[in-house]
Amino acid sequence: MTVWRVRPDGGRPQGRACPHAAAAGPEPAPLSGACLDCVARGRHERRLRLCLTCGHVGCSESSPGAHASAHYESTGHPLVRSMEPGHQWAWCYADELFLEPGGGRGPA
Ligand SMILES: [Zn+2]
Ligand SMILES: [Zn+2]
Ligand SMILES: [Zn+2]
Repeated sequence: MTVWRVRPDGGRPQGRACPHAAAAGPEPAPLSGACLDCVARGRHERRLRLCLTCGHVGCSESSPGAHASAHYESTGHPLVRSMEPGHQWAWCYADELFLEPGGGRGPA
């Protein structure tokens, strides 16, 4: 499983910790291949974020719906991972910082 750790430049202020990443379990399988809130409105948004708590798929803040952050606000699930090709990062809404895969290089 992926171990997420705070990106060196990801903390504001620098060096902030994310207790959610340390406590995260195995990544859930995505519940869908699209943002269902957008699909229901006839849109197909490709900037997707995967909730690392429950597998909910929502669109990013930079898309019109911002359904990933709406999911955080309604559920309190703090961690999302970018599902965009080539993206290797996650975001903690609660701590407002970027995370990167630890890659098994020791404890985060
Ligand atoms: Zn956090
Ligand atoms: Zn959406
Ligand atoms: Zn969730």
